[in-house]
Amino acid sequence: MFRDTISPADKELVFFTRDLVARRIAPQAMTYDTHGNEFFDSSALEVLAEHNLLAPNLPPEYGGRGLSNLVTAMILEEIAAGCAGVAIAVAANLHAISPLMVAGTQEQRDRYLPLMANGKTGLGAIAMVDTGVNLDFLLQTERVSIRGSSIKGEVNEANQTVVNGSKDYVMNAAAAKFMTTMVEYKSSGSSEPGGLQIIVLPMDTPGLSLGNTRHKLGLRYCSTAEVHFNDLIAEPHHMIGTPAQGLEIFKECLYRNVPFVGAVCVGVARAAYQHALEISKERMISEHPVFEESAVSHSLVNMASQLNAARLSVHQACWNIDQGLDYTLTSPQAKIIASEAAQNITWRAMEIVGGQAYVSGNKAEKYLRDAKMLSIVDGSEQFHRCLLASQL
Ligand SMILES: Cc1cc2nc3c(=O)[nH]c(=O)nc-3n(C[C@H](O)[C@H](O)[C@H](O)COP(=O)(O)OP(=O)(O)OC[C@H]3O[C@@H](n4cnc5c(N)ncnc54)[C@H](O)[C@@H]3O)c2cc1C
Repeated sequence: MFRDTISPADKELVFFTRDLVARRIAPQAMTYDTHGNEFFDSSALEVLAEHNLLAPNLPPEYGGRGLSNLVTAMILEEIAAGCAGVAIAVAANLHAISPLMVAGTQEQRDRYLPLMANGKTGLGAIAMVDTGVNLDFLLQTERVSIRGSSIKGEVNEANQTVVNGSKDYVMNAAAAKFMTTMVEYKSSGSSEPGGLQIIVLPMDTPGLSLGNTRHKLGLRYCSTAEVHFNDLIAEPHHMIGTPAQGLEIFKECLYRNVPFVGAVCVGVARAAYQHALEISKERMISEHPVFEESAVSHSLVNMASQLNAARLSVHQACWNIDQGLDYTLTSPQAKIIASEAAQNITWRAMEIVGGQAYVSGNKAEKYLRDAKMLSIVDGSEQFHRCLLASQL
């Protein structure tokens, strides 16, 4: 339905991406999965960068394609159908640049946004959601405006903002050229925090360092690490907005980006469904394909229906953002519907593929592991339910 609203050129680009991914990324996906926890391999990102697909919605004035959020989601689905780990690296990059797009200065945009355009692979990372702090603060407006990050920024006597703290599980950290993060800000002489300051930092900023690389169950292409802030001096040119605006910027970026995680869910679910369908038609049981058992074909029908519903919810969320409509319901709904679909479809695919699916190296078990993580990143499903419940 929403697909019919896009231009012929955008449709062609989506099909081009499908073909590109099938030829140059999908064949490497199992290798990325095997080695992704050990080292970061930039080859898939280079393939996408060659075609200016690392940030499909980046405006043309920064060298981007300037695609709508709807077409960007379609492209993410295509990438995820080849390898969800690659697609989530692109989605994390989109989240990292969103504070710049929403509230960055012209100087900040000119400095960071062209890094990922026209063949360059200068990705961004985003360190926002903390273990222990999580997103609960968004639900409790009384305390939100002041507390919400384990990374602290305190103004010293020389009027400099000194940042200290750590953030775990930062996707793209090892590959990124810059990072956006959120600091609980305290002004000089104050005993209480005075807001949440969003900052953007080049990865070589003194005081910013990487900690352990995390070995993950799935989405292994996307290198994920701890980051540490040790007496880092945040200069005025690092600041995005003010401490009073931090919460609103953060929220807007989350709402704008969570449908992209939904698009990654749709991509991995589609790949799992297609794999199961294919195997069910090939695998013979008592001299007929297992697909002919209605228990199996009905399960596939349910998977296809759920996939369609998930895609529509993601497209509607993106459409609302593109059209300037309210997206505070549709964005969390897209995350919930698409991540439930991805978990259910990858689970059923494993059942249909059978015993071989449980063995390392089979695509079905990778899909299942990749899908699980998608229900947690960018706010867990439960968190998004809380966001929606607060609006009922
Ligand atoms: C592989 C990986 C990559 C990540 N990448 C990034 C990244 O690039 N940038 C970034 O900023 N963050 C990143 N994260 C962090 C991620 O967004 C958080 O893990 C996620 O938001 C959940 O927070 P938590 O792990 O602290 O869970 P917790 O907050 O400890 O929650 C534990 C469980 O309790 C539930 N829960 C919590 N509060 C409530 C509530 N009020 N009501 C009902 N249920 C609740 C949660 O849904 C969850 O099921 C990543 C995490 C992982 C594991």
